[in-house]
Amino acid sequence: MIFVTGGAGFIGSNFIHYWLKNSDQQVLNIDKLTYAGNLSNLQSLASNPQYSFLQLDINSEKISELFEKHKPAAIVHFAAESHVDRSISGPTDFIQTNIVGTFNLLEASRKYWNSLAENKKSKFRFLHISTDEVFGSLTKTDIAFHENSAFAPNSPYSASKAASDHLVRAYFHTYNLPVVTPHCSNNYGPFQFPEKFIPVIIQSCLSGRSIPIYGDGSNVRDWLFVEDHCNALNEVLKKGHVGETYNIGGQCEKSNLDVVDHICRQMDELRPRYDKKSYSLQKSFVTDRRGHDWRYAINIGKISKDLGWRPQKDFNSGIKSTIAWYLENQTWVKNVTKKEAT
Ligand code: NAD
Repeated sequence: MIFVTGGAGFIGSNFIHYWLKNSDQQVLNIDKLTYAGNLSNLQSLASNPQYSFLQLDINSEKISELFEKHKPAAIVHFAAESHVDRSISGPTDFIQTNIVGTFNLLEASRKYWNSLAENKKSKFRFLHISTDEVFGSLTKTDIAFHENSAFAPNSPYSASKAASDHLVRAYFHTYNLPVVTPHCSNNYGPFQFPEKFIPVIIQSCLSGRSIPIYGDGSNVRDWLFVEDHCNALNEVLKKGHVGETYNIGGQCEKSNLDVVDHICRQMDELRPRYDKKSYSLQKSFVTDRRGHDWRYAINIGKISKDLGWRPQKDFNSGIKSTIAWYLENQTWVKNVTKKEAT
């Protein structure tokens, strides 16, 4: 069995679907079900004997008992507060889950790992899912983030992720706990909570609302289709070296304005506006996010060379299938939004 924390969220649920298609190992999904966690993401697995779910906070004392009971071969740790804007308006949960919660998992893992026989010890993995945002912000001419780039987090979200990365690193160096930490760029795809940039654009188009673009829209992000991320995590889990970090990205840098224009063009084709005019008429520039990082870019040289991973899906087809998914799953959008409002 493997443990997945935060498996009812965007990337976690995609990872569980990916895992169950590609492995015969069992999965226990441990998720608190915050506003961002939705069991409907995993509805199709309800009767799958390989999958089970437990509603639990990663800060719980019961985490240790779970390790003793299920003796997992690995823990894939996604659970986090993940939205930068929310970290600016209310950072407390970010500290509690991302830092203290990760610490609780590390302690439980350490206790469990110490009790294992030597042959099992070397096989156990603590896969800590991190983000490129821990490296801070780049200028137009800076080289892309690599594994040895200095940490320079700028938001309470990225600072809390950086703090947890440091704890994970320390548990390897101090206690030899077999950890691996991947740092990925912005993901997009099915099941992303509708507060995030790409679903916001799609939903704004559909509802006739204005499409909000921070500042002048020049901020640059690297984009990766979520299934490519899941595939990379699978490679890192199976072949990654303990104590190492791996940068994962789509080699797809785009300004926010380019992303909006791209989606508007595809929406014009896939679901033309009632008046046949372009959705780009709905673009609206709004006050910039406080401390908004200007550019992220990822050098994927290490994971490509050492583990043979490269992204498979290009942005054009990834966005097309993402839009198609949201168009077909408006009930999901309504339900998860309604759950948050209650
Ligand atoms: P998400 O917000 O969609 O999902 C987070 C999940 O964690 C939810 O199911 C939520 O219920 C659960 N959770 C939150 N607090 C918890 C707690 N205390 N105990 C148990 N469960 C809890 O997030 P996501 O976008 O899927 O991101 C998953 C991970 O990947 C995060 O660690 C994030 O930092 C990282 N990451 C995300 C991106 C991205 O583009 N979304 C990019 C790089 C890295």
